[in-house]
Amino acid sequence: MKYLAFPILFLLGTMILISSCKDDNESCVETTWYQDADNDGLGNPDISQTSCEQPAGYVANNSDSDDSNFIGTPLSAFDEFNPDAVTFSFDGNEVTIESTGVPNHTSPYWQESHPLHIEQTFGDHTTPGFINERSYTVTLPLNPQIASTSSATGLGAIGIAVTGAPIFNDEEGPNVALDLQTAGGLDYAGGHNGPSGYHYHLEAADVPENTTLSYDDEQLIGIMADGFLLYGRTEMDGSYPTDLDASGGHYGVTPHSDGEEIYHYHIINEYYISSLIMLFGGDLQGTPNTIF
Ligand SMILES: [Zn+2]
Ligand SMILES: [Zn+2]
Repeated sequence: MKYLAFPILFLLGTMILISSCKDDNESCVETTWYQDADNDGLGNPDISQTSCEQPAGYVANNSDSDDSNFIGTPLSAFDEFNPDAVTFSFDGNEVTIESTGVPNHTSPYWQESHPLHIEQTFGDHTTPGFINERSYTVTLPLNPQIASTSSATGLGAIGIAVTGAPIFNDEEGPNVALDLQTAGGLDYAGGHNGPSGYHYHLEAADVPENTTLSYDDEQLIGIMADGFLLYGRTEMDGSYPTDLDASGGHYGVTPHSDGEEIYHYHIINEYYISSLIMLFGGDLQGTPNTIF
């Protein structure tokens, strides 16, 4: 009997190996994935591969009739953001945006020793505090969809502007609307400093230093917490859109969409109070993501 011990052990070992392989195979359910070259969430039925894990650039959907025709966020829009403050990490159909919140334009909210510091030219006062580094992070879909119900925005960042600083809504406190007194502390960029750091409420005013900000034009303002882009008041031809929804959104061509119609927001061309124009005072039409 003792001569059989080795073969039996060998056999047992082999069986254990085989069974553990089997376990691996059973926990892996192979699925067919379709290439999504245009990143719109729809896959090309003609190019597929089979694997357990979703390969990068592939989706489960196979209904894209033209896989070079995106309907999502045009990636060229991300080139507009201040690279000193904002970084992007792309992962499948999502992008994670991180920003220091530090803008790339002059402001009275820079410390006096800072090269971008200027005197207050817009309002009649400044609120306490100076621009300093913060940390904003949000993960957004690259093919944002209109949600079945719109979502009211709250206090805090509701979008990230191309300058790197966050976009706030029309409130300066819980259910406290921005008023003329508070607006008197805004700088020409439409921003001011608060307990949570420097942020924008209004469209920028037209001043010579205005190089990165939009004033009554078609430039990109930033990206909102639902993943849709926010543009200035006008279309590319300088006209004011007439078919905007209550949030300033509509389907149309933008400077980045390469002729395709995508859903995007505009700054609504109407006065909020006095002659001040709010950046974004409506609901988000997509699904909001938290900006941490
Ligand atoms: Zn504020
Ligand atoms: Zn438009």
